[in-house]
Amino acid sequence: MKLEKIATVLRDAHRNGAPFNVKMRIQKLAHLKKVIVRSEPEIVQALKKDLGKSEFETYATEIGFILEEINYMIKNIESWAKVKKVKTPITLFPGKSFIHSEAYGVVLIISPWNYPFQLCLSPFIGAIAAGNKVVLKPSEFAAETSSIIKKIVSEVFTENEVSVIEGGLEETQALLTQKFDYIFFTGSTGVGKIIMKAASEHLTPVTLELGGKSPCLIEESANIDIAAKRVAWGKFLNAGQTCVAPDYVLIPIGMQDVFVQRLKFHITTFYGLNVKTSHDYPRIVNNRHFDRLNDLLIKDKIAVGGELNREENFIGPTVMKNVELSDKVMLDEIFGPILPIIPYDHLEDAIKIIMNFPKPLAFYLFSEKSEKKDYIISKVPFGGGCINDTVIHLANPNLPFGGVGTSGIGSYHGQKSFETFTNYKSVYKQGTLVDIPLRYPPYNEQKLSWIKFFLR
Ligand code: NAD
Repeated sequence: MKLEKIATVLRDAHRNGAPFNVKMRIQKLAHLKKVIVRSEPEIVQALKKDLGKSEFETYATEIGFILEEINYMIKNIESWAKVKKVKTPITLFPGKSFIHSEAYGVVLIISPWNYPFQLCLSPFIGAIAAGNKVVLKPSEFAAETSSIIKKIVSEVFTENEVSVIEGGLEETQALLTQKFDYIFFTGSTGVGKIIMKAASEHLTPVTLELGGKSPCLIEESANIDIAAKRVAWGKFLNAGQTCVAPDYVLIPIGMQDVFVQRLKFHITTFYGLNVKTSHDYPRIVNNRHFDRLNDLLIKDKIAVGGELNREENFIGPTVMKNVELSDKVMLDEIFGPILPIIPYDHLEDAIKIIMNFPKPLAFYLFSEKSEKKDYIISKVPFGGGCINDTVIHLANPNLPFGGVGTSGIGSYHGQKSFETFTNYKSVYKQGTLVDIPLRYPPYNEQKLSWIKFFLR
């Protein structure tokens, strides 16, 4: 199929083909699950090659995540897709009101390289559950995973249902000139702006799942050991190449040294004394990102790690202490295994630092005091987050996942995914036996007093 015509071909199929009813969607998703389960060894291999991911991480954060999402969709689509009756005000008597769910049509999904399987298929499952035709554009920087996604999807869906376009800038640009009914993009804030601009040409609605600096605030009552353990886990998972990884830590000045000590202990427990030989610790995606990250390091401030190997794209878990806001590492999203720690004197100073950055995708608070938790959570704007944990909030399908401001527009996961890819049609249904004359001209004093009686 010609790339330039792809949206048109799928739109024709959507308009003129057999309806993609709920039963068929469930069958397709069940089939997709079966093929994914059968392809597990190949997916594990692909992620090992692309990012050096361990089998455990691949299963927990990519394959298992997707299987859970499919199960959840299959279980719920029928009830979500039902026509819903809503209340009708007395003034609209004797009609009734309904909301119908309808697929948007042809959806374009563009995904990044860091969780290349999960971030491509998770929105895809939502788009299919809602009954759409889909063009999938996985990331060119995770080429092995991109190719296995194409293989799996092509086994389950026909060319007139789903098309997987592999490639980079040229292919994405060719796609973006076309008219889609919805665009779902996951990636950097900079490219997000390009996507939104292209979408505006056709007034195409978008979901933008973007990035930014997600802070971690440690309050003085925090359990410091648990905080260090969970921050180390969330930060060094996928070698820090996680959109919701804690980007930087704010900690009371007197607690900094103990925290660094506990971080060091947990990093060693997780990955051993020689992290390079650990099978559980991934690699940086490519040389470009390795160089970018290397450039953020300040030797004198490194308190843990700092080990590098460009040939292997290896950067060990690295902690920098006494970091200042003007340091390079604080200017942009880190997206790698470098954790800057900024000590603070007063809680309000720390909150001010967070609020001076754009609204983050994630926020993590460690505290043992209820009133502090309530106060801080209500004060700081963010997309999603955890109290006394990191990253794990996105594993709950009942919590919509998305950013706010420059970290994103819209959200998904679970029911929210179905809703994201659904156009809700509002219908007021009238009969013809009764026709109340009140609303029709000519108007008079009596009609006016009736309308004033009803609408007040
Ligand atoms: P990216 O923005 O460079 O690329 C994402 C996708 O956009 C890829 O498929 C790529 O081919 C395409 N693309 C790149 N440049 C383009 C252009 N000029 N025009 C059109 N398409 C283009 O992002 P990335 O490097 O793959 O991923 C890292 C970023 O993604 C980080 O900022 C991270 O925070 C963010 N991210 C966000 C989430 C989330 O759920 N919010 C998840 C993962 C990653």
